[in-house]
Formats: sequence, C-alpha cells, structure tokens
Amino acid sequence: MTVFTNHAFDKHQLICFANDPETNLKAIIAVHNTNRGPALGGCRFWNYQNEQEAIDDVLRLSRGMTYKSALANLNLGGGKAVIIGDPRHIKTPQLMQAFGRFVNKLNGLYITAEDVGTSTADMESIHQETSHVVGLDNKNGGSGDPSIFTAYGVYIGIKTSYQKKSGKNSLSGAKVALQGLGHVGSYLLKHLHDDGAEVVVADLNKENVERVTQQYGVKSVDVSQILYEECDILSPCALGGVINDKTIDSLRCNVIAGAANNQLLEAQHGDLLKEKGILYAPDYLINAGGLINVSYEGEHYNPQIVKKHVDGIHDTLMEIYNLAEEKNISSNRASDMVAESRFMKNENEHSYKITA
Ligand code: NAD
Repeated sequence: MTVFTNHAFDKHQLICFANDPETNLKAIIAVHNTNRGPALGGCRFWNYQNEQEAIDDVLRLSRGMTYKSALANLNLGGGKAVIIGDPRHIKTPQLMQAFGRFVNKLNGLYITAEDVGTSTADMESIHQETSHVVGLDNKNGGSGDPSIFTAYGVYIGIKTSYQKKSGKNSLSGAKVALQGLGHVGSYLLKHLHDDGAEVVVADLNKENVERVTQQYGVKSVDVSQILYEECDILSPCALGGVINDKTIDSLRCNVIAGAANNQLLEAQHGDLLKEKGILYAPDYLINAGGLINVSYEGEHYNPQIVKKHVDGIHDTLMEIYNLAEEKNISSNRASDMVAESRFMKNENEHSYKITA
C-alpha cells in the first residue's frame, strides 16, 4: 500500500483513516492544501475493489480540489473524502452521522459536501454531527443542487472557447456533441438549446436519451460514436479519461469543453490536442460552478452573487488561453501554472491551522 510515495500524494497536508465498527464505516479524509483556506471537497461513497484504489482516488481528487478552488478564486483549499463500500447496501443515516463525527474532529480543516454516491439527505445526517458540511437542502437553508451552476459554468466555458476559436459571440448554428445527460448534461443541454446550438447527444441510459430527444427534438447517436462526431464542440459530461491514446486520433471537433473531471487521461494528452489544433477548456476551471455555489452557502446565500462569480469563468478561461499562446504550451499546463501561482504563494503564512 502506498501513501507517502503515491504519485498523487504531492505534499498532502493530512490524511485520516476513519473507522466505526458499529456502523461499518471505513473512510479516508485527505487534505491536500489549506494555504487559501479550509479544504472543501465532496464525500464519495464507492465500492472500491481494494484499499489502494480508495487511497489513489482520494489523493487524486483532493489534490484536484486545491487547483479548482484556486482557479475559481475561492478562499478555500483542497480536500476530499471517500467512504469504502457499496452505498446501496451499507449506507445508513447512522453511518453518515459517524462520518460527520470524524469530520467534526478536524475542527473545520476539512468541509465536506456531496459527491458520487452521496446526496443532500446524507449531508443532512452529517449536519446532525458537525457544522463543517455544505450542500444542504434549499428548504434547510442550503444552496440546493450544485449541478445547476456546474452546468451554467460549463456553458460559459463552451461559449468562451467557441468565441476564441471562431470569433463568434453566440452558439447559434454551432454543432455540439454532448456525452452524458445526467444532472449536469441535462441542465447544460437547455442552455445550449436556448442559445441556438445544434446538439447531438448520447447516454448509456436510454430513458435519459428519450427524455431529451422528446423535449428538445435533438438527434442522438450511439454511445460508441459520440466522441467521434464531426462537430464544433465536444462536451464530455459523463466520465473522466475520455481523451486518451485510443480516442485522440479519431476526434473530429475544434473545441473540447465539458463537465467531466479529469477528461485528459494524462497531461500529455493536452499537449497532443494542442498539436492537433483542438482547443481544450481545462475541466476543473469550467466545472467549478457547483463548488462556487456551495462556497456561498449560509444565511446570506444569494444565487445572483453566485451567478456573477460563475460568469468570471469567462475571463479566467480567456486569460488561460492567452497565457498558453504566449508561452506556447497547452491550456491544461497553463491552467495548472496559474492555479499553482495562486495556492503556492506565501505557503506558510496563510496556512490554515487546526485550533484544537
Ligand atoms: P450523473 O451521474 O448525474 O450523470 C452522468 C451521466 O453520464 C449518466 O446519465 C450516465 O448514464 C452517463 N454515462 C455514463 N457513462 C457514459 C458513457 N460511456 N457514454 C455516455 N453516457 C454515459 O453525473 P453529473 O452530476 O451529471 O456529472 C457529470 C460529470 O461531471 C461527472 O464526471 C462529474 O464528476 C462531473 N462533475 C459534476 C459536478 C456536479 O455539480 N454534478 C461538478 C463537477 C464535475
């Protein structure tokens, strides 16, 4: 089992292994960096094949949150939690409460939220044990479904990238291939449709495809074909790792801009996209809308303020594209550079301290 020598360890500040035999809770909380503020990141509940897989995932995701928060200009650091096990079989309110007690022991160094396998209801259970949780239900003073703002940010990212590539200010007539019609993909499709884009969709879930083809009259293609559609913009909103050695030579798009985390299997795939003349919108920049939304949760929550912040994705993305051009590097490397310059500054001075 590797932790300190793990390729994603990358100077993690703290990693906790939490165990509660009564509820069967086995969780890992990873705090990557708190130079900008407490580490905020979701809690993923997943049936990992083994412990190493869970460690790899939590470290990779936690590190990613540091970059995402820094680029979104939030006073937050990066962290993440994973709970090991099949949520369909072992998840109970008591288990989520036990997890909440562990979060509470960290005294606000780590703030938890929803992720794959957890819901707003789970956040309510956690909230019974700790105040260091966001993503609560609207009716309980929370900020509601984060996917709405994630989708809006991705839409801003798509518009900005298309503008950079084609000089056009509207998506009217632009062809978009949309992979994934889940929470984010569905909201995104509405924005694209309203802006006059011609959208082609695919999803493994046939009900999702039927729902949107009926609602918007869009064309669908098989899931095996969507990445290779000839289009202006490819928008991966399902899985990570879709840009890899197997897919990259068959892509027929001018821009890639989507919600999925870690779309590039490796950073070098971003360099290859640059060589092919495909403009890549760094995923963690344009999918930060949900994070921005939960960061404003509290008694003064105002969706208009959140929207304004998410609109800022346009300027940041343009800055990244310009920097990439100036330095003749890929956009993913440019965004990493900008993020690092923001969270590595005054490394010790701004370090968030555990008070107890
Ligand atoms: P979701 O689970 O609601 O939807 C994913 C959809 O993708 C599902 O409908 C699923 O059937 C479909 N899918 C899975 N494999 C597919 C394939 N091979 N081809 C086509 N469709 C496939 O997830 P979501 O919340 O909409 O998130 C989408 C992506 O965006 C994920 O990668 C997620 O990590 C990322 N993301 C989401 C948010 C958010 O606020 N929800 C924030 C940041 C990043």
